[in-house]
Amino acid sequence: ENEEFMRASKLFVQTLREFPNDAEAMSHKLLVRAGYIKKLANGVYSYLPLMQRVLTKVSNIVREEMNAAGAQELLMPFVQPAELWQKSGRWQVYGKELMRMKDRHENEMCLAPTHEEVITSVVDGIFGSYKQLPVNLYHIQLKFRDEIRPRFGLLRGREFIMKDAYSFHTSQESLDEEYENMAQAYTKIFKRCGLETKMVQSDSGAIGGSVSHEFMVLVDTSVGENDVFYCEKCGYSANSNHAVSKLNEETTDGGFSGLETVDTPDVRTIEELSKFFKVGENCILKAVLYVASFADDAKGEKVPDMPVMVMIRGDKEVEETKLMNAVGALEIRPAVDVEVKEYLGAELGFISFLGSADRNVRVLFDNSAKGMKNFIIGANEPHKHITGYNFSDIRENDIKGCEPEFVDVSLVKKGEKCVDCGESLNVTRGIEVGNIFQLGTKYSKPMNALYTDENGKTHPYIMGCYGIGITRTAAAAVERYHDDFGIIWPLEIAPYHAVVVPVNTNEEAQVKLAEEIYQKLLNKGVEVVLDDRADRAGVKFKDADLIGYPFRITVGKTIAEGLVEFKARSCDEVLKLTPDEAVEKIAAAVAKLK
Ligand code: ATP
Ligand code: MG
Repeated sequence: ENEEFMRASKLFVQTLREFPNDAEAMSHKLLVRAGYIKKLANGVYSYLPLMQRVLTKVSNIVREEMNAAGAQELLMPFVQPAELWQKSGRWQVYGKELMRMKDRHENEMCLAPTHEEVITSVVDGIFGSYKQLPVNLYHIQLKFRDEIRPRFGLLRGREFIMKDAYSFHTSQESLDEEYENMAQAYTKIFKRCGLETKMVQSDSGAIGGSVSHEFMVLVDTSVGENDVFYCEKCGYSANSNHAVSKLNEETTDGGFSGLETVDTPDVRTIEELSKFFKVGENCILKAVLYVASFADDAKGEKVPDMPVMVMIRGDKEVEETKLMNAVGALEIRPAVDVEVKEYLGAELGFISFLGSADRNVRVLFDNSAKGMKNFIIGANEPHKHITGYNFSDIRENDIKGCEPEFVDVSLVKKGEKCVDCGESLNVTRGIEVGNIFQLGTKYSKPMNALYTDENGKTHPYIMGCYGIGITRTAAAAVERYHDDFGIIWPLEIAPYHAVVVPVNTNEEAQVKLAEEIYQKLLNKGVEVVLDDRADRAGVKFKDADLIGYPFRITVGKTIAEGLVEFKARSCDEVLKLTPDEAVEKIAAAVAKLK
């Protein structure tokens, strides 16, 4: 029966002539057109048999490596009670990505976007003694995140499959060790999936904790939603939401002597100011006003929005994730004109922190401003700027205590110097396929999940967590490996290893030989499809390329000379081989996988 299933005439697949018109990413276009996925709702897909085979392979690689690394598999619920999330404090802060609902008894529930709360409650009470720790538990499970912008097909779905693992420890050293162990397992996993990844430092996001690294598949299109800064020389690499450079140590001097208020009619932008005063943009202290919104407080009361002014060197941009972290906001957005007037009584283009001590505006200085001297700032009066300003000029009515609060909220730029070695930084784009975190006691503490040490004292578990997007990894492989004709699967995760195509199904000899080759491949453990459909050869070749079988054996006229055609999907060359040679080539490649 296994055998019947692998005949193309029976395979549950429908390739399409055209790309879907709602798709931007190549992986999205190809997976729909080649018959791997079918959309049910925005960001929600059915994984059809070809896709399911790919996902099973990715999952199995993950499973094997996680088991080898000493983790144990379990499975946790997809639907979760709100109470658990209230205990950890995330019910209030998770925002709209958390899909909330009520059951028939009016109990609040949610669909699992992640499982920190559940695993903490699972381990608590089972492994309560230091003797039983550390332990690492993982599962491969559906997640639901009501993403604001689901897009790129499986790369950013609302419902998707994730492997996540959680480890529990009695010391930071033990967590460090497991973190390293997981980093190595991840590198192996992605390699086995045929993907090269870069491990980069990153922001911890909604999961929280202090240390975290992401595993990126590098791509050079906008489908890579992350900018990764990296150093060729020493290997430093970080997501733009976390990257730093040596720029913060630089000094710049505007060259003005003494404070002066200067009329600057309609000179608003940094570029205009730089021209007007004939100084570099790095000699202007730029003010950018944001509006931050927060989670409800512990009593469930609304917390009012807060204006936040960022003072940053003129040639630098604000990195909004860093800013959100700096102020503890759930969301931030740039203020609009009317808000600038309302909060500062000033006009966009001339604003600064001057005289704002009594205003309800939080003022932050980016580290890039630290080394500035004799610079230009807005006067907070229409059409005026101040030149020759220094931080020693700050007065009580500007900032209470006259001490500017410095933070790192700027976006690194290509060419800035590496903090570790001083070499110029490069930038590229990446798809985040995995993420590892040191959580510490972020969940165990509020949830009061405790272990007992050798003296009988209790402490919150020290935790780590480790995620891999199963569906995203598969899509990232398509993003990385395709051409104009279709997908070029790495052999490791291809739905089938090979296809056998008889050119003319009316020619009995061809059909018979194709059948024999097919049987031989099956016997050698090759996962193979026999394209027994009565279609023209051109149609079958097109489908084979689109679907992306790594190998194709074509049985046509050359059988008169005892030869068939052998072709690897990743290579243009067509070889004429005897049937046995062709079978052997594929069998050898497949044997290497195990
Ligand atoms: P992103 O920043 O891309 O939204 P995340 O950092 O919020 O992702 P994690 O909480 O780190 O995601 O989840 C672990 C892994 O799950 C990610 O590395 C990614 O591979 C996968 N993943 C997360 N969100 C999605 C999604 N919406 N669709 C598909 N896979 C996802
Ligand atoms: Mg992540």
